[in-house]
Amino acid sequence: MSFDLVLLGGTGDLAWRKLLPALFQAFRHGSLPEGGRILGVAREAFDSDTQYRDWVALRLEAIEGEKRPTSEEFARFAALLHYVRADLSQPDDYAALAARLHERQADSVVLYLATAPALFASVAEQLGRSGLATPQTRIVLEKPLGHDLASNRAINASVLRHFGEHQVFRIDHYLGKPSVQNLLALRFGNTLFEPLWRRDTIANIQITIAETLGVEKRGSFYDGTGALRDMVQNHALQLLCAVAMEPPVNASADAIRDEKLKVLRSLRPWTAETLARDAVRGQYTAGQAAGERVPSYRDEPGVHLDSHTETFVALRTEIHNWRWAGVPFYLRTGKRLASREAFIVVNFRPTPHAIFRTPTDSANRLVIHLQPRDGLDLHLFAAAQAPRRPAAPATSATPLLSAVSLNMDFDQRFGAERVGAYERLLLDVLAGRLNLFVRSDEQEAAWEWVEPLLDAWAQAEESPRGYAAGTWGPSAASALLARDGYCWTEEC
Ligand code: NAP
Repeated sequence: MSFDLVLLGGTGDLAWRKLLPALFQAFRHGSLPEGGRILGVAREAFDSDTQYRDWVALRLEAIEGEKRPTSEEFARFAALLHYVRADLSQPDDYAALAARLHERQADSVVLYLATAPALFASVAEQLGRSGLATPQTRIVLEKPLGHDLASNRAINASVLRHFGEHQVFRIDHYLGKPSVQNLLALRFGNTLFEPLWRRDTIANIQITIAETLGVEKRGSFYDGTGALRDMVQNHALQLLCAVAMEPPVNASADAIRDEKLKVLRSLRPWTAETLARDAVRGQYTAGQAAGERVPSYRDEPGVHLDSHTETFVALRTEIHNWRWAGVPFYLRTGKRLASREAFIVVNFRPTPHAIFRTPTDSANRLVIHLQPRDGLDLHLFAAAQAPRRPAAPATSATPLLSAVSLNMDFDQRFGAERVGAYERLLLDVLAGRLNLFVRSDEQEAAWEWVEPLLDAWAQAEESPRGYAAGTWGPSAASALLARDGYCWTEEC
């Protein structure tokens, strides 16, 4: 199966940091199909394949430890790399790209749009007009796909004019994380949890995606985007779908995507009352990160001094169906938070009748760790060994249980077999597997749900609530749960 993988934007940050290292790892693991070419496309930078290869060599040499290639390995990988100079805003330049692709007839051609989202619609249009949208072609779209529902629909419409939905691979790299695939395996490959996975036994579900970094060099991009578009509309809602969806009829892409779509369509729509009560937006002020003093968001390069862009979002929502009616789902994400981690917490209800006491009246909890570690912790209670000779008479007739946990560390268990998110997704594109990619109707449903929030925050006169860098966000995010009698995991 020969392939041509075209990185449109092959010299950008995404290609440099994620795509080229992931492709090298796939090559090293022997998972890249034989007979492939990787073609980087950009306007500037290089005049020849050799210069592009030298640039990629610099990137791979900077990798720490075992993942760094030997010179012999890089020489073999470099033979796959080519460079095409083209300006994607110029219709005539597509001929140069077409000529390179027509040098041979690869079994599949993957066009990866790793370039500015503003170019997506016109690039899709030009690819179609220049004869590059053939039945052998797949197109990969990076997030953010649009700025709102209308722009998302416009991009999807341009793309779908020239490509069938089965040829379109919309990336949400969270879906490439092994832990998200494990969540589906846990739910639908085991009988243990599914009977408990419902309103009768689950009190609430919390999804956290926390970053310690600020906006780094992307201040101007982020200031026009914000956390709701950058993290909630895509990653957090995809995680919510994975945790809340009904069992699909089989493991095919459409069966899974049909179920995710139903979740998105069942999310409680926003009203004026819930917008005011169940949504918190914050913006970081100066504080600490990794022991260092860091500036406020408004003092970051590229950010407006009076910016109202949110760097933190916490939401409370519900899913209107039989399985989940009345169960609160809390989503939280932010930059410059206390810790870099992503996890989902499933809080079970307390036992219906207590004959034991538990520490701080807690109940069973399943924590699905997504990053930095990948694993599951199931929090249970056990009777601790009673001392042989009690020092004093027992103060209560109700025995106290101790917290214990079942800890499954997938990194440790599967170790070297683990495949990184971008490597997994790139291999799936090359194999034509759509399971881990987002369908257009799913994406539109997600935009539709966040749009009232986007509108309300765009019109709001007051600024987002401040929170000091290095904390868990504004106190209003805690109040969101406290009203229901709950707390975020780190507060309980
Ligand atoms: P970037 O660093 O600005 O790179 C853009 C790339 O596109 C460069 O190779 C640039 O090279 C090329 N390019 C720009 N205009 C072009 C044109 N008219 N014709 C041909 N090539 C053109 O952007 P990025 O950070 O890599 O982001 C790429 C995409 O991935 C964006 O959609 C972004 O939102 C998404 N994304 C990025 C990240 C990340 O970590 N960086 C994460 C998630 C999603 P020339 O300027 O030389 O043409």
